[in-house]
Parts: sequence; structure tokens; C-alpha cells
Amino acid sequence: MANANPSAGHGGARGANKLPDLRELSHAELAGVLGELGAPAFRVKQVEEWLARPEVQGFDAMTNLPKDLREKLAERYTLSSMALAATRVSKDGSRKYLVRCASDGTYVECVGLPSAGRLSVCVSTQAGCAMGCSFCATGRAGLTRSLSAREIADQVGVVRADFGLRVSSVVFMGQGEPFANYDATLAALRILNAPGPETIGARHLTVSTCGIIPRIRQFSKEPEQFTLAISLHSAVQATRNALMPAVRKYPLTRLHEVLGEYAERTHRRPTYEFAPIEGVNDTNPEVDALVDFCAGTLCHVNLIHLNELEGSPLKPSAASRVRGIQARLERAGVETTIREPRGQDIEAACGQLRQRLEGLGF
Ligand code: SF4
Repeated sequence: MANANPSAGHGGARGANKLPDLRELSHAELAGVLGELGAPAFRVKQVEEWLARPEVQGFDAMTNLPKDLREKLAERYTLSSMALAATRVSKDGSRKYLVRCASDGTYVECVGLPSAGRLSVCVSTQAGCAMGCSFCATGRAGLTRSLSAREIADQVGVVRADFGLRVSSVVFMGQGEPFANYDATLAALRILNAPGPETIGARHLTVSTCGIIPRIRQFSKEPEQFTLAISLHSAVQATRNALMPAVRKYPLTRLHEVLGEYAERTHRRPTYEFAPIEGVNDTNPEVDALVDFCAGTLCHVNLIHLNELEGSPLKPSAASRVRGIQARLERAGVETTIREPRGQDIEAACGQLRQRLEGLGF
């Protein structure tokens, strides 16, 4: 999760497309449209395969459809949910993308993270974010709007097309709080998990939330094995309230309870994201509370690097302190990983997805 204020400077694009976007139709709606146009049922699958490729921006590219069907579709629909606006490449190989929503010109960001022949993608679920976490660049600018399912899923296609690699996993950790846009997030997960040549297994699709308890419950009842990450960042209520003010109404005691229910119901292990911050959540009492929160439960802790924001007093803990926290958790039997920061030079790392639209020098 992380990011932006996209509205300034590009409002002129709003309303530019008068025709509806074919990519926004559900499977049933698409089948209905093609049926009305006299196309046989097998065309639905063919069209869906084209729609899943964001580099396909026009009906002429759908070469296995008859010309008259392509023309009829072009008269009634547009074909673009997301267009690539700009790319930044990190010296560590990760790439950050600025993508533009065709419907209204809103910009969001996504990131591609290649590693040993595998490609992970981090997508945004909202343009901006209303949660206001104090360590996050996205939270500073507020929420512009939530994205549609197709706008979320198409970010994966943009990254796939640029790398020319199969996408092995997707994390919903870009701009926005996915569970504040639950229905579109779930529909995007299902688009990405749908059978096909580019399908991504449910266990490789991870949603990260600040801890919106009713939605965690709802998520645990979904039939697919999608995975869950929680932005925890402190197991001390007062500290967490200060770092993540929007979730103070979901106290840690209830969060702990509902995560226990989640693990029991799904037999899956939630991941807790924890960014050690010097003097804030890395003190001995804080680490004791973190150990108490995790010990004896099904979970995995990711210690992630805090990326400093301009003008913020929050600083990342020293590497030796982070290793100390890991050792303390592991002594209590809690599996813990220290995640290497990536994409820092292009501001693509967690909390850094902040749009800079001036000249697209984002
Ligand atoms: S870290 Fe907080 S403010 Fe930033 S995108 Fe995630 S939920 Fe929003």
C-alpha cells in the first residue's frame, strides 16, 4: 500500500471517451453483447483473450474475429482501460509505471519486480488513499477515487507486456487500501486467477490491508485461496493509533482475534508487515508486544525497510536493530524475514508511490 494526488492538471481528459469500455463488461454482459451482434458463443472466449492483453488497444488487432464483428464492436465500444504513460527503471532491475485510466484520465502507479526469472507485480487498488498512514507518501495526498476491477487487473498486463515475462505473483500493495474497495479488488483477483495461459494461482495473489476487520472476515469466507497480508507496524495500541489513525476503530485485540479466526477457517498463514522505525516501534516494550501478538499463532512476519519521506521525523531503524528484532521473534518461534528494499532510487518501494505529474517526470 502506498500513494497520490492525481487529479491536478489532467481534468481535461475526463469524459473524453463517450463510448463504454468493452473491458469493463462482465463475462455475462460480454456474452450478451456478442449474442446481440449475432456472433456464435465461441467468440466470447476469443474476445476475452484479447481483452486480457492490455497492449491490445484497438479492435483491428483482434485478427481472429470477422471484420464485420470488429467494426460493429468499434461502433459501440472503446477498448482501453489503462494506458502506459511513463516508466522508470531502477538499477536493481525493478520498474515503476505510471498508467492512465482511459475512462477519466486518472493516473496510478504499479511496479514490476523481477527476480531469478520470476516476475512479481505490485498493483494499486485506488488512486490515492484515504487512510492517512503517517509513514506513507500515498496517505499524504488523500483519495481521488477507487479503481474498477479491470483497471486493477490491467496493471498486471501493462507490466507483463513491458517485461515480456510471465507474471508469477501479484501483491495488492500499491496505492490505496484494497479492502476500502473490496468488490473491485475481489473481482480483479478473480480476473487474474481465471483459467487461461496467463493465469496466476490464488496462493500467489496477495492482498495487503491495514486491518479492516469486517472485510478480513469476509475475505476469509471467499472460496479461493488468496493470501492475506496485514500492515501491522506496531502491536501497541497507542503507537499503532499514531502511525495508522484510520484503523484505530479496529483495536489490536479484535484484530488478533479475527486473524486467529482467519487462520482457523482458511488454514492459511497471514503475513504481518512491520517496518521498524527508530525509537517508535523498535523499542524493547514494542518488540515484546509484537512477540506477544505473534507467538503461538499461525503467521509470518516481514520486516520491511521504512522509506523516509521528505519532512517526516520517522527514520528507519538501524540494520543491527532490525536483525535484533528478527532474532527475538525467531526465539519465540515466529518465522520472520527481513525484506531487502527494492526500487528506492525510483521511489517505487513501499510508501513511496507518489505521483509526480509535472512533465510525467514521476
Ligand atoms: S500505507 Fe496506509 S496510507 Fe499508504 S496506501 Fe496503504 S493504507 Fe493507504
